[in-house]
Amino acid sequence: MLAIYGGDRYITQAFKPSNPIGIEEINAVVNVMETGVLSKFLGSWSDDFYGGSKVLEFEAAIAKYFNVSHAIAVNSWTSGLIAAIGALDIGPGDEVIVSPWTMSASAIAILHWNAIPVFVDIDKRTYNIDPHKIEGKITPHTKAIVVPDIFGMSADVDAIMQIASKYGLKVISDTAQAPAALYKGKYAGTCAHVGGFSLNYHKHIHTGEGGVLVTNDSYLAERMRLIRNHAESVVVGRPSYGLNNMIGYNFRMGEIEAAIGIEQLKKLDSIVKKKQRLAAKLAAELGGLAGLELPYIPNDSTHVFYIFAMQLNRTDGPSKKILCEALLAEGIPISSTYQNIHLLPIFQKKIAYGKKNFPWSLRSNALQIDYRKGICPIADDLQDHKYMGIGLCNYDFEDVDIDMIVGAFRKVWTHFFK
Ligand SMILES: *Cc1c(COP(=O)(O)O)cnc(C)c1O
Repeated sequence: MLAIYGGDRYITQAFKPSNPIGIEEINAVVNVMETGVLSKFLGSWSDDFYGGSKVLEFEAAIAKYFNVSHAIAVNSWTSGLIAAIGALDIGPGDEVIVSPWTMSASAIAILHWNAIPVFVDIDKRTYNIDPHKIEGKITPHTKAIVVPDIFGMSADVDAIMQIASKYGLKVISDTAQAPAALYKGKYAGTCAHVGGFSLNYHKHIHTGEGGVLVTNDSYLAERMRLIRNHAESVVVGRPSYGLNNMIGYNFRMGEIEAAIGIEQLKKLDSIVKKKQRLAAKLAAELGGLAGLELPYIPNDSTHVFYIFAMQLNRTDGPSKKILCEALLAEGIPISSTYQNIHLLPIFQKKIAYGKKNFPWSLRSNALQIDYRKGICPIADDLQDHKYMGIGLCNYDFEDVDIDMIVGAFRKVWTHFFK
């Protein structure tokens, strides 16, 4: 009998939580602690404006690994996204296109500059923004496109860059979930004007909290470094970067996080390889379950499996919700929903700054921008009827764990779809 109906749970052992931190990181932290220099940023014009030696070393290592000219370490990837939007000179009332199937920061970073997110639906198979639907949402106010590489695989960035160049737009890759994923032989995150990665503890590699921006554009890189470190107080020394959007922040990364990041980056390849091997095993063994759609990976891409996403593609059994409750009851750490951020109250009510609907009230036609359920039908359908996912970065799964997950899936499938 299914556990959901009072039967025995198929998986009785708890899975090991993910922990990529080892002796290398511990030693690196101790070394920094012994110097007593836990951060070396100075918010005024000096050699220390760009941070301490570990921050610089981490940035150089990131730039080398991802084969980009500039890496800029920040205290979170949310900060990174805010710095990127600001550096691109996006301002009050401008529109920025973004997909809804992402973490809220992809869109909230836009609001931080009083610009207005406009949502474009996703591709049903990749969960990434659908390039075919972008042009229909471009207006004279559109300035940029934020492109999440969701679940561990790049969006079709070349197609998006083509549209961007046609309309003079900038493109930001939000590659928080897809470090080391390949797209046409290049690393995801490096094919747009700016990209970057999260170093938060539930991502592939982490520094506790942290993030890093990557770009090949020196002008943008310098503007992002300025925004990271109290731009307004030092921009006088850098007149070529202007005053626009130079309200500075403190987005600085400390030396401890940078030292951890240096060691974590060395482990990225092996962490990703293991996720890919386990995901391939999971896909191979779940392949026989009728109506269960498995991750789609185009020939020109690799997937690093932040989340192993599936779709229920049959209607002759229970709803997705019931099915996921049954899978969960058997001990599979499965989630039956992801985030459809256009439905968040901030967009439904159009309230960000103050009580007067800023920034939408900056333009009367911005108040008309539609965030209702239904504007992104693919994302809605996935959320309501089809999508389910297992977070491969939450656990340190081994082969035996995958076997247990597969066994529990088979038990549930046998019960509902005889
Ligand atoms: C995690 C995540 C972020 C935010 O990163 P933080 O480092 O936690 O601020 C942004 N976008 C996506 C798609 C994410 O998954």
